[in-house]
Amino acid sequence: MYLTGLEILGDYKTFKLISQAYEVLSDPKKRDLYDQGGEQAIKEGGMNSGSSPMDIFDMFFGGGGRMQRERRGKNVVHQLGVTLEEMYNGSTRKLGLQKNVICEKCDGYGGKKGALEKCSACKGRGVQIRVQQLGPGMIQQIQSMCSDCQGQGEKFSAKDRCKNCNGLKVERKKKILEVHIDKGMKDGQKIVFHGEGDQEPGLEPGDVIIVLDQKEHPVFQRRDSDLIMKMDIKLVEALCGFSKAIQTLDNRTLLISTRPGEVIKHNDIKCVQNEGMPLHRDPYEKGQLIIQFQVEFPEKHWLPEHLMFQLERLLPPREEVMMSDDMEEVDLCEVDLNSQQKHHSREVYEEDDDGPRGGVQCQTH
Ligand SMILES: [Zn+2]
Ligand SMILES: [Zn+2]
Repeated sequence: MYLTGLEILGDYKTFKLISQAYEVLSDPKKRDLYDQGGEQAIKEGGMNSGSSPMDIFDMFFGGGGRMQRERRGKNVVHQLGVTLEEMYNGSTRKLGLQKNVICEKCDGYGGKKGALEKCSACKGRGVQIRVQQLGPGMIQQIQSMCSDCQGQGEKFSAKDRCKNCNGLKVERKKKILEVHIDKGMKDGQKIVFHGEGDQEPGLEPGDVIIVLDQKEHPVFQRRDSDLIMKMDIKLVEALCGFSKAIQTLDNRTLLISTRPGEVIKHNDIKCVQNEGMPLHRDPYEKGQLIIQFQVEFPEKHWLPEHLMFQLERLLPPREEVMMSDDMEEVDLCEVDLNSQQKHHSREVYEEDDDGPRGGVQCQTH
């Protein structure tokens, strides 16, 4: 599947997948940490937004690559686990994150003004070249970023270096972000904090992008603005009617009842208008609450046999089958689906010439 940038922006689900992939790629531990520690774990360093091809370019060519780079820092993508209740009622979450900010002491200069010296290790080029003998007559040149000056070509001597940032020009600081989860926001929806990414001298900081990740709910599933729930009812309720209470996501109690004479069949679906999820930016409008009924049948031998006829008298009449001599009477057995499948696949191998038959395909799907 090929995705264009537009599709990625338009499709939250895809966007979320991509940001997840970025996270896993850049730091496999982060997801686990986040799941365990919640928001607190965010402040664990890095906040990577993944590596771009430009970073690899930088790695090889040091400062040279940096000149051609876009004058904007990386965006930081983070996933925030949100409950369905929070998306229904709206909520504010505080996220503590560690980020690079321009050093206050040296204003991002890294040391005493005018004291910058040419790096002696790379002679100001920002790269170091190492020659490696691979074999007789075979020489490999390896070019790498100068580690003494971080590819800058210039550095401060120890005495001129800023003590606060150790010449790095930036320092780690804690920043609290307030994430406002509006009523009706969706799984995969992103909340953008413009310019809250890592600061770096001469670069416009990137954005912090929070991607909402809806947690599973024990009762409700969400489909757009509709909520879907399953409800178990007894056979007597299915046939003779019932009243049931439903706890809403904002802790109200709804009472639903069948109409007199109504029969609810297994897997029947009913709905309650305006009790689904609120619409984003129009929270007084809500979707539907959809209820799928599951009828619980009684276990075998629940009714003594001598009472069966009483029940039968009340139920709609059965259809009697006309017995005839050409009928074969066979046993009705329990089905073991696993052994049934094995049996059929063996048959396919044995009768290879015929190829798989329609019946077999039905069994395996
Ligand atoms: Zn150097
Ligand atoms: Zn400093």
